Amino acid sequence: MRYFYSPLFIWVLLSIFCVKAQQYPYKKSQTTSRLKQHVTFLAADKLEGRLVGSKGEEQASIYIAKQYKKSAVTPATGTHNYLQTFSFKRLTYASNTSLSYSAILSNRKVNLSLPVGYTLYPLDFSGIGSVTAPLINVGYGITTETGDYDDYRNVGAVQGKIVSINADYPNRNMSKEFARYADLEARADSAIRRGAVGIIFYTQDSATQIPNYKQYFTYSSFHGRKNVPIVFSAQSNLSLGLVHEPYQIDVDTVTKVFEGHNVIGWLDNKAATTVVIGAHYDHLGYNELGGSTYISSVKNEALVHNGADDNASGTAALMELAKTLSKSSYKRNNYLFVAFSGEEEGLLGSNYLVNHLPVDKNTINYMINMDMVGRLDTSKHSFAINGTGTSPVWEKVLDSITIDGLKVKYSQSGSGSSDHASFYVNGIPVLHYFTGSHSDYHKPSDDEALINYDGMYSIVKHIYTLVGALDSRSKLSFTPTKEDTATKATFKVTLGIMPDYLYEGKGVKVDGATPGKPAANAGILKGDVIMQLGNISIDDMQTYMKALGKFNKGQTTKVKVLRADKELFLDVTF
Ligand SMILES: [Zn+2]
Repeated sequence: MRYFYSPLFIWVLLSIFCVKAQQYPYKKSQTTSRLKQHVTFLAADKLEGRLVGSKGEEQASIYIAKQYKKSAVTPATGTHNYLQTFSFKRLTYASNTSLSYSAILSNRKVNLSLPVGYTLYPLDFSGIGSVTAPLINVGYGITTETGDYDDYRNVGAVQGKIVSINADYPNRNMSKEFARYADLEARADSAIRRGAVGIIFYTQDSATQIPNYKQYFTYSSFHGRKNVPIVFSAQSNLSLGLVHEPYQIDVDTVTKVFEGHNVIGWLDNKAATTVVIGAHYDHLGYNELGGSTYISSVKNEALVHNGADDNASGTAALMELAKTLSKSSYKRNNYLFVAFSGEEEGLLGSNYLVNHLPVDKNTINYMINMDMVGRLDTSKHSFAINGTGTSPVWEKVLDSITIDGLKVKYSQSGSGSSDHASFYVNGIPVLHYFTGSHSDYHKPSDDEALINYDGMYSIVKHIYTLVGALDSRSKLSFTPTKEDTATKATFKVTLGIMPDYLYEGKGVKVDGATPGKPAANAGILKGDVIMQLGNISIDDMQTYMKALGKFNKGQTTKVKVLRADKELFLDVTF
């Protein structure tokens, strides 16, 4: 017996299939040109890096609201012109923060006071207070373990004095012998142990590594401060005996209140459940809070951190999905589109939102976060989805989706350092789309020109397909994920590398090594694969983190790396 299918029957079959897996409704060229337009606007210098609470953040929020409006997405309950305003506090150095002393200029004694700014600023671990005392210069302030080299040997008593310390280390251009003693905090501790009541670090060479000036800092960054004021001064003549005693260091802080804005669009499908799709749009501004990984050799410059990948890319994808989903046939959920602010300052916006939701928290089906989706590596042809352990459904559904032949690397944990974590801790299944870290991460060079728009198109299609695949399913159940205790531990030491999170081989592949940190000092390069630390073999990130926990600051050990298939043994000092 043979079956004859009527054209109508085939049409019905096809249309059922099409409802289930709707094609992405826009061509690649249409979508990529919109994505490029969004990223170009958000990552332009004009927006000044979109620091939460800044003018640039405000301009970005207005732009996003306009895009929602164009897509017929309505303002969510409790917002004003799509904006949900939250306030937050920062600490800043009070205007009396200064270094004062007298100097002899043209045979005349003049009193000088350097106010806080790019050329005079407290270091992160400075205490608060005012101190007036004689100055003593202690060279580099370094004493080696063997005692062969000791800057304190011939300088006299330090007790009760302000010490000035050259922030460089001996023979930097010739050898790395003293690099292990370069850490400023360790040198401050050493001076404090000897009775110093204040510390002034200075430099005579612009190549010396000095932490950047921070205009603001968060309350949480204030832990672990020393009990004496510690400043960096760009004035090197402090050490040259041109000045008269005593010196005065004042370090004081004041609290300032700022406002940030989440931008929230609502797509009401009269459904019982709501899907949250989010991306943070804020970034580091001019690095006022010091989250930059870029160490400038010029101390008095403010560079815009454009944040094209982090996270103009996710924000652009968010606006594209708002446009597409508002016209789609996926109607079994409502959608809340959220551009978060204050992510870079500690998930401020998403924390505020989960406590001030426009919908009942129990009706949220799942949350999708896009943070850094603009650097799909064409050669690796893969990207990461984090949070797949937060619902038993995730991996089953994700396994059924293939977009443009891309491989997806899953990671189960629902916590992490982006906005999905705020939803995860509230028992909501989450996913975080991520195309991987890179050497421009948190640097002024995270620019629009480096964005892979074809890759972003693939990510947008992937999410659209996932949302479609879940449309006919009931509300996802939530499962807490096993947090690897090693990843939560705080380490006494760090290598100062950026791992390649998409690397799948044995060991930990280095995507970048921060200058001045142990790995770079040891000669570890981008592309190296760390195979062994001391006598601990490194299989993956987990064993790497556990291994780090075994070392102490100042300790030296051998590290085995694979470079172009050759094994190298390097000495690393933490
Ligand atoms: Zn980010």
